[in-house]
Amino acid sequence: MTNLAEIPDLKGTISGEVVLPDDAGYDEARAVYNAMIDRRPALIARCHTPADVAAALEAGRRAGVPIAVRGGGHSGPGFGAVDGGVVIDLSPMNAIEVDAARRTVRVQGGATWGMVDAATHEHRLATPAGVISTTGVGGLTLGGGHGYLSRKYGLTIDNLLAAEVVLADGSVVTASETDHPDLFWALRGGGGNFGVATSFTFKLHPVGNVVCGPTAWPVSATTDVLSWFRDFMPAQDADLYGFFAVMTVPPVDTFPEAFHLQKACAVVWCYLGDPADATEALAPVRDIEPAFDGIGEAPYPALQSAFDGLYPKGLQWYWRGDFFQTVPNDAVAAHARFAEQLPTMFSTMHLYPIDGAVNQVGEQDTAWAYRDVTFSQVIVGVDPDPANAAAIKQWTVDYWDATHPYSAGGAYVNFMMDEGQDRVRATYRGNYDRLAEVKATYDPHNVFRINQNIHPAR
Ligand SMILES: Cc1cc2nc3c(=O)[nH]c(=O)nc-3n(C[C@H](O)[C@H](O)[C@H](O)COP(=O)(O)OP(=O)(O)OC[C@H]3O[C@@H](n4cnc5c(N)ncnc54)[C@H](O)[C@@H]3O)c2cc1C
Repeated sequence: MTNLAEIPDLKGTISGEVVLPDDAGYDEARAVYNAMIDRRPALIARCHTPADVAAALEAGRRAGVPIAVRGGGHSGPGFGAVDGGVVIDLSPMNAIEVDAARRTVRVQGGATWGMVDAATHEHRLATPAGVISTTGVGGLTLGGGHGYLSRKYGLTIDNLLAAEVVLADGSVVTASETDHPDLFWALRGGGGNFGVATSFTFKLHPVGNVVCGPTAWPVSATTDVLSWFRDFMPAQDADLYGFFAVMTVPPVDTFPEAFHLQKACAVVWCYLGDPADATEALAPVRDIEPAFDGIGEAPYPALQSAFDGLYPKGLQWYWRGDFFQTVPNDAVAAHARFAEQLPTMFSTMHLYPIDGAVNQVGEQDTAWAYRDVTFSQVIVGVDPDPANAAAIKQWTVDYWDATHPYSAGGAYVNFMMDEGQDRVRATYRGNYDRLAEVKATYDPHNVFRINQNIHPAR
């Protein structure tokens, strides 16, 4: 039963701002990262405390409207906004406490990775996260989280020590290996299905300056470079990480003008060992003669934020993902074909290595089920112009159709659009039924359903 009259009551109840459709800041408050998403919530609650979160949850439940939870707002399908419902916006909850002696960091649920990297880098420490620093800690962590540190230190969830969670009934619990271990298991990959994570505690590792940057080749070299990369990357020590991309070279100073707006294939590298050893580790890359070599030493947060400027909030995004054991020659041929057809300058395909430490965790140890694969692929059609939305979507879907037959079956949950229950099940493989049991315990009425949804078992 929907009772929208209940909702405005929240204005006097929570310590944070409440934004309603008639308020001046409404359009800005409802906007998420992906401009393809245009939803009109009944209310946006900017929460400052777990009590605010519980009050917003209660208001949404009483009114009988859907409830969306927003961390950094980067979800492709726009799960941080919902038509006619309550948005719990965690962005004011962004405090970060580093314990350098214990090598841990406690991060509130609405922080972004750029904030975390800046705080931990002061101590030359870091934890694995994604490759764009404006991404939210909340969504990235709960889905799994992979990036430059993952071959050496695992997924983001492999470094999660504890989470404070507001459950569907408004109670607040801590989940860890010892407290609510079933919830802790499900949070590590199961997305926002189980509650609102108001803080996370992560393990940190020594990471200071890294030797990093892109090497690029003309798009006509895609077959040769990808075939080489597929074999080279998994054979390397975990100190070396590189993700493969097909792309259009942006017209920025980093690249010589002759390359601007040329289609290309590239690998973005990050060497975590002693910088003095990087030349030797990267020698095989130089052997295949990149047309552009932008590798240099930089503070880790500089690498983490290197692509932020290229992908600001407000572009149109459509994406599809898959996991791969390897990239057979027929799949390489498909990549070469779709690289030639990149529809816009911002559109790209990334193939991220997730072997090494990620593979050392058991398939049932966390909700993340694909511990036996080598690569996580994302195809993203991106453009500022809504008139190109159909074209970027079509290219993405056609590209995905061409490579999916060579995949391991499922995709990283954070690289999926709204693709239906079969795809959610494919993501979790044999862990789905256990997740559905945990969901039945902690959220039996599916209050948290604006996500890649796991249906309660009972
Ligand atoms: C440009 C770009 C680059 C990316 N690169 C990477 C990458 O390198 N590696 C990688 O692993 N992923 C990457 N991602 C994917 C990213 O992990 C997901 O988009 C993720 O969902 C973003 O989290 P968010 O908090 O910003 O998003 P939101 O849209 O706020 O949330 C996403 C989902 O998580 C839920 N959620 C968020 N915070 C909380 C919380 N505190 N408690 C409970 N539920 C919550 C939401 O309800 C929603 O279902 C990238 C995304 C983008 C847009």
